Amino acid sequence: MNRIFLSPPHMSGREQAYIAEVFESNYIAPLGAFVDRFEESVKAYTQAPHALALSSATAGLHLALRVLGIGAGDLVLASSFTFIGSVNAILYQGAVPVFIDSDESWNLSPLLLKEAIQKLDKKPKALIVTHLYGQVAKLDEISAICKEAGIYLIEDAAESLGAIYQGRQSGTIGDLGVYSFNGNKILTTSGGGVLVSSNLEWIEKAKFYSTQAREPYLHYEHQEYGYNYRMSNVLAAIGVAQMEVLDERIRRKREVFDFYHRELSGVDEITFMPEIKGSHGNRWLTTLILAKTNPTLLIEALEKVNVESRPLWKPMHCQPLFHSALAFADGTSEQMFLQGVCLPSPTALSNEALERVTEVIKAVCQ
Ligand SMILES: *Cc1c(COP(=O)(O)O)cnc(C)c1O
Repeated sequence: MNRIFLSPPHMSGREQAYIAEVFESNYIAPLGAFVDRFEESVKAYTQAPHALALSSATAGLHLALRVLGIGAGDLVLASSFTFIGSVNAILYQGAVPVFIDSDESWNLSPLLLKEAIQKLDKKPKALIVTHLYGQVAKLDEISAICKEAGIYLIEDAAESLGAIYQGRQSGTIGDLGVYSFNGNKILTTSGGGVLVSSNLEWIEKAKFYSTQAREPYLHYEHQEYGYNYRMSNVLAAIGVAQMEVLDERIRRKREVFDFYHRELSGVDEITFMPEIKGSHGNRWLTTLILAKTNPTLLIEALEKVNVESRPLWKPMHCQPLFHSALAFADGTSEQMFLQGVCLPSPTALSNEALERVTEVIKAVCQ
């Protein structure tokens, strides 16, 4: 039995032709025509005015904090229910994370966000909000709260490329946004990220830092320190081919969700991650919560038939790394973590193939 993976790469078929073009031009280098084309394609799709292709979304978040001038001792609010790549950059900058729990949307709670801003002794400089599993957070409330408090809003749209909120693309609503093209995301360049913003100055500055902060001289001149964070031209060629099929991938991810939702409608204890009003998520992963069955039992039963599934992200405020970090949490995401499962959501498999998954769930759950 072939293994069913959580979210494996799904090539469009054009990638190798574009890579061949890279080889013909001999730009086997960071930077080259495909990096520009990839940035243009992300801009065209998302309507983000400016975009910067990078080695990862984590690098994008790091650059976002750096260009906003966030550094040692500054407070940065962040979704607690997320992957650590969301928040590592806060530590890289010597800043201090403050975690905000989720509400019934599974994403960041605007109420707890307000409470945090009111109760903290010091004004936070920014919020990094995650759009979990491709589903958009309550951005109208969240951005209004940030605007009123004078806090920069950074969208971690690593999982939500192509998701829409009130007619606008996730990642383009805050001050800065990042998309990931890591191997398990909805599209992949094998590894990569894109930073977007409507502020050209920030994107130019991020570009400068991402290429070792080299000053514009003939010789190598440096006034500041930077990073080596740019995307390679070879990987950007993969990205151009992947962007061409983003609509198809979103359609199929949503069909996979609909399939699970329909097939499992008779299993009373299951609740799926919701889609908030006015939004259209990309359903990167179909995720659910079990009211009774221990998720480990389900994950092990799926493993027996060679199906990959996972627990939900363990919230940041429950991580040993952050045991002394400040958190505004009411137990919501911790409970979701204890009861949740990510189902395999590959775009290249048929519904018939996914019946191997639903049969196990029907057998194990109540
Ligand atoms: C994958 C992911 C990241 C990190 O993306 P990379 O491109 O691997 O650095 C950050 N945040 C979230 C929510 C993610 O899922």
